[in-house]
Amino acid sequence: MLFSQKSIKICAFVENILVFFEKRHEKFRNMPYFCDEILKKLKNMPLLRFQALEILQNRKSVSIKSPSNRLSDIYASNVFDKNKMRQYLSKEAFNALEDTINSAQGIDRTLSEQIASAMKAWAIEKGVTHYTHWFQPLTGSTAEKHDAFFEPTSDGRSLEKFSGDALVQQEPDASSFPNGGIRNTFEARGYTAWDPSSPAFIMENESTKTLCIPTVFVSYTGEALDYKAPLLKALHSLDKAAVDVCQLFDKSINKVTASLGIEQEYFLVDLALYNARPDLMMTGRALFGHMSAKGQQLEDHYFGSIPDRVLAYMAELEMEAIKLGIPLKTRHNEVAPNQYECAPIYEEINLAIDHNQLLMDLMDKVARKHGFKVLLHEKPYAGVNGSGKHNNWSLITDTGKNLLAPGKTPKNNLMFLTFFVNTIKAVYEHADLLRASIASINNDHRLGANEAPPAIISIFLGSQLDEVLNEIETSKINKQADTNNAMWLGIPKIPQILLDNTDRNRTSPFAFTGNKFEFRAVGSSANSSAPMTVLNSIMTDQLIQFKKDVDALTAKGEKKDVAILTVIKKYIKDSKNIRFEGNGYSLEWEKEAAKRGLSNIKTTPKALDAYVSKKTVDLFTRNAIFNDVEIHARHEIMLENYMKKMQIESRIIGELVVNTIIPAAVAYQNTIIENVKGLKELGLPKANYEAQLDIVKQISEHINFIKNAAEAMVEERKKANTITDTRKIAIAYDEKVKAHFEPIRYHVDKLELLVGDQYWPLPKFRELLFLK
Ligand code: ADP
Ligand code: MG
Repeated sequence: MLFSQKSIKICAFVENILVFFEKRHEKFRNMPYFCDEILKKLKNMPLLRFQALEILQNRKSVSIKSPSNRLSDIYASNVFDKNKMRQYLSKEAFNALEDTINSAQGIDRTLSEQIASAMKAWAIEKGVTHYTHWFQPLTGSTAEKHDAFFEPTSDGRSLEKFSGDALVQQEPDASSFPNGGIRNTFEARGYTAWDPSSPAFIMENESTKTLCIPTVFVSYTGEALDYKAPLLKALHSLDKAAVDVCQLFDKSINKVTASLGIEQEYFLVDLALYNARPDLMMTGRALFGHMSAKGQQLEDHYFGSIPDRVLAYMAELEMEAIKLGIPLKTRHNEVAPNQYECAPIYEEINLAIDHNQLLMDLMDKVARKHGFKVLLHEKPYAGVNGSGKHNNWSLITDTGKNLLAPGKTPKNNLMFLTFFVNTIKAVYEHADLLRASIASINNDHRLGANEAPPAIISIFLGSQLDEVLNEIETSKINKQADTNNAMWLGIPKIPQILLDNTDRNRTSPFAFTGNKFEFRAVGSSANSSAPMTVLNSIMTDQLIQFKKDVDALTAKGEKKDVAILTVIKKYIKDSKNIRFEGNGYSLEWEKEAAKRGLSNIKTTPKALDAYVSKKTVDLFTRNAIFNDVEIHARHEIMLENYMKKMQIESRIIGELVVNTIIPAAVAYQNTIIENVKGLKELGLPKANYEAQLDIVKQISEHINFIKNAAEAMVEERKKANTITDTRKIAIAYDEKVKAHFEPIRYHVDKLELLVGDQYWPLPKFRELLFLK
């Protein structure tokens, strides 16, 4: 048979392949040797922990390039603020937009077109290619979906387009955001709607710039699916209620805004160490880890000098924040090692919260550049302080008066006392709801758990104001008062400047600090909208009630000022139980609070009940903050969130025990067994290896315990998962599954103390807390 040239070539090729495989085959025959080599290499590879420590040794502080030494030069350079609006909008459009913002009215179509095209012009000049609606779904983080300005036209050209409609409203495919059963999937549409009161901004990344438009997020049927929508409603109601009360004193006041200054505490940990701790990566906290010999007991970290690498991080964070108009002002070391704090100057509350959400994002992004990971978890490390987000809150009028700052005259002080006492009364009436508003799986470790302050809501006023209220409560009202008389109506003297000389009580969850209340129990990772929606809602309700009570007295012929003081006096008396000036962390306080009938609800699933009590549902519906469906949906989402996070923690504990901790303990135990065998072989008496035998035994006991407990925990999880009622599952997770966490940890931590250091796979607390 004749072969063509081509066929011969193909045969040769196939032949070659066969030869190739033949040769390979040789190698395959030596496979066991081959595998041994790999195994040997793997065995000799240092644990991730030691690789991380090596990376850390070589870290240097990252130098940052600032466009200017003066932060004021770059302040808000990435914000479409009033200055830019003035520059890019016609005078008429600018004024119309301002009116819209001030009156919270809807925006008309021509105006939205003009604003969109102005925003686009400004953004494109700054190198922006995409835009997004930026919103705060109930996941806790912010959400964005980018669209390009770029659009092809029908005649084959293309242009950069941003319409008024695209600015005002978008329909993200939002079916996978938490909705608590509000939306069925067949009606999965939700929409985001522009919030003109919070200015658009440019988010810069290494490779791209995006125009972000703050929006609310609601379902197709109008129910709120985010944090911002109810907050805006609460602020709107508060404005009206507060103005009505202000008008009792000063007719020139037409608007009251709530202001908020958010102190943000956080931990930094080296990124390499973080990557070697699956628990930190997956849950934000160290599920295991024996406390290091030195913790915070020497109190040498608070306000200490800031390490170089950290300082470089802070400087870059501040620079980026300032560009976005976030007025970051303060930086310092916090109490725990590797714990820090930053705080901006206070702003209007909606803006302050947008800025805090943005700041948390930014903190994470900037940290990575510096080889750090930011931990915003409320309690990343057992044994040292947790992190909070103190919410400094006050009310400010359009005449520039802070309603929570004592005035110069007794008459002014009657106004101050009105708002001051109404706040106390509101907190007293709705303490459980306020407690619920800060409840989360993370914050449970900060409130009510071991070594943490109790979850009791109380108010600290400072001795001066405490006495003032006591005096008002017990003294007679001078009904014949003359406005010029210093002892007018019998209001005791209140020093005008309390700001610098009020006592500071760090143990109070809700403290008056001179010209504002500081809600300190808010958790560091929280979206402040939840507690601030509650605080402003209860204040609204309280102020409306106050006005009614005063009106009722004046209708009976009482002089206005006398009526006001009479009501204040009654409120002081009614709400007395919520005031506590002592040590809020002490055991005595828990006992005393129980006697006073104050709640001390330690864990989230039960704390959340207050959201759906009749009292709360009435409060929210009465003031048009949430309707019945919305509040129940939200409750459901919070319970689900709690349960899911607990499930993740429990799974990570199981995985770490089986795949990481036990293998490490066994490996070390084997070396000791070898050692004992050797000593025996030498014929030494038992006394010479008794200690080793003891270690071997102890290790076995701990392994035994954690293995059994981890299995029992899985069983509890399985049982819990069969429950259908969300609240009941959450409680089962809290009471049955979580019950295993501490015992398992105890034994794992004991193993950490027993097992040779070079065998221990997880970075230790001394490394997490002290290396930088
Ligand atoms: P602290 O002693 O609690 O750290 P700071 O004076 O540092 O108090 O202020 C903490 C926060 O409170 C800052 O963000 C600050 O801007 C804010 N703050 C100050 N005055 C007010 C106010 N009237 N309303 C709201 N926040 C305020
Ligand atoms: Mg502080």
